[in-house]
Amino acid sequence: MRKIATDLVTGGSVEARRSINTINPPLHRASTVLFDCYSDMLAANQGKYEGIDYGTSGLGAQKAFEAAMVQIDGSYGCKAFQSGISAIAMVLLAYTKQGDHVLICDNVYGPTRHFCNGFLSKYGVTTDFLPSNAGADISKYIKDETCLIFMESPGSNTFEIQDVPAITKVCREKGIVSVIDNTWATPLYLNPFKLGVDVSIQSATKYITGHSDILLGTVSTTEEYWDIFRKSCGLFETFASQEDCYQALRGLRTLHVRLKHHEQAALDVARWLTTHKIVDKVIHPALESHPEHDLWKRDFTGSSGLFAFTLQDEYEEMDHSVFVDNLELFGLGYSWGGFKSLITGGRFRRDNSFAYEGKTIFRLNIGLEDVSDLKSDLEQGLAGLNV
Ligand SMILES: *Cc1c(COP(=O)(O)O)cnc(C)c1O
Repeated sequence: MRKIATDLVTGGSVEARRSINTINPPLHRASTVLFDCYSDMLAANQGKYEGIDYGTSGLGAQKAFEAAMVQIDGSYGCKAFQSGISAIAMVLLAYTKQGDHVLICDNVYGPTRHFCNGFLSKYGVTTDFLPSNAGADISKYIKDETCLIFMESPGSNTFEIQDVPAITKVCREKGIVSVIDNTWATPLYLNPFKLGVDVSIQSATKYITGHSDILLGTVSTTEEYWDIFRKSCGLFETFASQEDCYQALRGLRTLHVRLKHHEQAALDVARWLTTHKIVDKVIHPALESHPEHDLWKRDFTGSSGLFAFTLQDEYEEMDHSVFVDNLELFGLGYSWGGFKSLITGGRFRRDNSFAYEGKTIFRLNIGLEDVSDLKSDLEQGLAGLNV
């Protein structure tokens, strides 16, 4: 007879748990993952074990989410991270070494820029910023040490689009790894791998999870670029929360339905804004007035719910409060891709000359509210400026 202290440790039927066949993956909570036999442990000791040998390798929900992303992206491998920016940081670390040079499109997510300038620079990796609408002309920015080109198309604040196939063609010729932050389009509206991209990043915080309550990122790569990435991730032992991966997988189930609604609603609001007398430019890739609309039409199969606009008159920054603070349905906050409509405002700085120098850009995340209510809210907000 075993004693009570042993029963406390061993009690609970594993068999019952294994036989429950749910549609969604189980949520594991684990540091230790048990091996079936000693030979498996010996293989793991030598880094030769194929299975999951520890919690940091990623547990059930993470593996299920990553496998779904591989399928949707048409990539070779995918890894989930605790946030979009940690996914980006890992890509920049994995594919660079001391003495290298990277080219980053000027319209990238701010923290991507800060990571290059503030962190890569410490390790002897230099960064130059490409015009946001770069294409085949990137050749002239490439140096002998250039090892990576990072695109974000469209950029998530100023929405310039890069000629992705032209850039990846140059990258292929020169053996440079091409990376894209594909958060705006999601894999549903742009498949970067079909355009020759090697590494595609998602901030799953946005449309994939879709409810403004989760931070998560993914990196997907081609077969050629997977091994080096997988090894770097192994050295950092990065992993993502099981609960968050579970929610991301759940988010994928409804992504196409939500995205279609975001798309239609955003187009509706964008077209309406073009007719508003105090609005100057509506910056939306699917509108014909967008400078790279032709590229959008050629490469993308849809548009999402995030776009921006500028005003005819430029006011003192604080004077915009009468517009922004009076909105009732648009929350004032960062991030996007969720069910609630949001607004951000501000001016941007770029290394290269750009179309909105000194102009305040208001960015709208169009959520799932009724579109006519959203328009009315913007109408009454903008009326505050219309003196
Ligand atoms: C939000 C965002 C990120 C970062 O994602 P987090 O999960 O918030 O770290 C990266 N790229 C783009 C384009 C984003 O909008």
